[in-house]
Formats: sequence, structure tokens, C-alpha cells
Amino acid sequence: MEVGHLYVHVPFCRTKCPYCDFYSTTGKVEPECYLNLLKEELKLKKLRVKPKTIYFGGGTPSLMPPSFFEHIISLFPEAEEITVEVNPDDVNHEYLKGLKSAGVNRISLGIQTFDDSLLKILKRRHTGTKGIKSIETAISIFDNVSIDLIFGIPGQDEKSMEKDLKTLMKFPLKHVSTYALTIYEKTPFHRLFKEKKYALPSEETFSKYYSLIVEKLSTGGFYQYEISNFSKLQFECKHNLAYWDMKNYLGIGPSAASLLANKYQKNVDNYFAYKNAISSGKVIYKEEVNLSREEVFKIKLAMGLRKTNGVNLKVEEEKVVRNSIEKSPFLQNLLNSRILILEKRKLKLNPEFLFVSSYLISRIGEEIIFPA
Ligand code: SF4
Repeated sequence: MEVGHLYVHVPFCRTKCPYCDFYSTTGKVEPECYLNLLKEELKLKKLRVKPKTIYFGGGTPSLMPPSFFEHIISLFPEAEEITVEVNPDDVNHEYLKGLKSAGVNRISLGIQTFDDSLLKILKRRHTGTKGIKSIETAISIFDNVSIDLIFGIPGQDEKSMEKDLKTLMKFPLKHVSTYALTIYEKTPFHRLFKEKKYALPSEETFSKYYSLIVEKLSTGGFYQYEISNFSKLQFECKHNLAYWDMKNYLGIGPSAASLLANKYQKNVDNYFAYKNAISSGKVIYKEEVNLSREEVFKIKLAMGLRKTNGVNLKVEEEKVVRNSIEKSPFLQNLLNSRILILEKRKLKLNPEFLFVSSYLISRIGEEIIFPA
């Protein structure tokens, strides 16, 4: 089996942000040792990996020196889109030049907001001014720069959101990802929100902010291609599109996930357990599931309906959808009210309903029935 997309997890962070549920350790950063572990994992997995895209995510990949990326990239000369997530606090001219010489061609900056008081609540390392400087430096070196924004931060109001959007619009960015603040269990924010030290905005406010983002970004020349992602034409993140299109991908490093044919695997999410296992010639998984044909299709729908372009259905998949519609008043209702659109073997959600799509997508999945 050939694998066309590679995700490399870098499991180190300088400090832990209280809202984050990605796996990382604030322990010692070990670039050389970690590079060897990753190369060993690649060997142990014995796959034909010919990635068109490579995505270094984290954790904080920008704690790694450019030589780390250069080594991995040199193993895959066919890669076209090579992204590194960079913490604004780690940005300087020399470092980004080093990444460019290493072969990186896309930078994703974790800006989150330009507002200092909100950055403090998120316990980010950088300030608003440093965020702006990091964008200026990144766009002076890279053509393809993306930033992440978070909305719904306690204390954030419409004015501050508008200011963030106005600030980002000053730069020739190619891509923006915007995420509603989500409170994950077992994070410090979960406790703080439970103790009512902070509160999330109402659903109405979230929805208002989302509409504001969609409106301002589209006025600024970005087109929305997924619930949370906006890009200039031709600058969609091809790596993430591969996830949403259910292409085969390989993830390496602790907690990294892979989809290989119908098998979903998630590596153990502990650096030390990962290190011990790889050093003794084993890969250990936190999760390993063989997905049935039905499960694959339901995941394909759930992922594909996140995109404004929707899901392209195969002939037999279209039959399943049409049969399910015949039996489901809920689906008929969605189609009659143009919330769900089925045209020429393409199923998609009306973009106006993308913000509530999590609920709709899970309900649509429940209504899809396979012939016995
Ligand atoms: S948000 Fe990023 S920098 Fe903060 S803990 Fe999570 S992975 Fe690390």
C-alpha cells in the first residue's frame, strides 16, 4: 500500500496551555534522539511512504532545529506541500530562513489572538506585538503563511474580535484557521470552567462571532473551504484536505494517528512509553481499529460534510444515501429545506448551516442505513 500523506508529531512544548488537549510533554527537548526514534518508527512500519504532503504538528515543532526537518524532508523528495507549525515566540529571521533551506514551504503560526489580555488567559508565550512581528517575518520569507485564531475566549468581545480580523487583513496571508474555544476534559480549563472561574460565551454569541469571521474573511478575499478553514484560491491546506477526503495517511511520533486502508491506528500518547517501545523494536498503539465498510462510509460523510464542497459519492454510496432518504423523514426535511443538498452524486451542507454542522453531521450519520 502506498501512503501519500505524512504527519510528524513533535511532542515537546515549553509550557502547557490550559485549553490544549494535544499530547505533549514539557520535559527535555531531545532533537537528535527524537529524529532517530522517528526514523526507526518509519522502518518498523514497513510501508511505502511517498508523501505529497508532510505536516509537522505538535506540540511545538518550532522547538526543533532546522536540521531536524531537513533530515526528514530529505527522505521524501516527492513531497510538494511541507508545513511546520510555528509558535510565534520562536520566530526569528534566521530560524525561518533555516526552515526554508531545509525544504519547508508552508508555515502555520499559532497566533490565536492579538489581544494581550486574552493571550494571558490562554497562557500563550507570545504577546500581540510578537504575533504581528512573527507574521511580518514569516511573510518576508515564505509565500504560503497560515495563522490560527481562537474565538470565544473568556473576556473577548465583538470589538476585540473585529480588531483581530482587521489586523490579520493587513498581511498577505494565504490561509486562516479559526477555532471556537472548546473545553476538553482533563485540561486545566475544564476545572476552571467547572468552578465557574471562567465562562464560555452563549451559543448565540459563538454563532455571532462565527458569522463575523465568515463575513470579514470573505470580504478580505478568503474563501471558506471547510467549517474552520479559509484560504486564498489554490492555497487550501492539501494535507488537511487529505484527512477530510479519507485518503491514506501515516502519522509518526507519540499520539500520531494513521489511516491505512480501513485500519485506523493511534500511537501511544506518552513520549517515554513510545521511546522505550521503539528502542526495543516495537510500535505500541493506544488505539487500533479495523473499520467496516459502513464505518468507513459514515466517517467519509462526517469528514466530507465539513467541507463547503461536500462529499463526492460513488455510485453504490449514492444508492445507500438515496435509500436512506426514502426511509428518513429527518433527511427528507433537511433536503426539502435545502439544509442538505444532493446534486450530481455530491452531498453537501448549505454553508449557512456549517456552524451547527457537528449536530447535523452526527444526526445525518445516524439516519444512513445500509442494506442488510
Ligand atoms: S496549544 Fe500548542 S503550545 Fe500550547 S500546549 Fe498545546 S501544543 Fe503546546
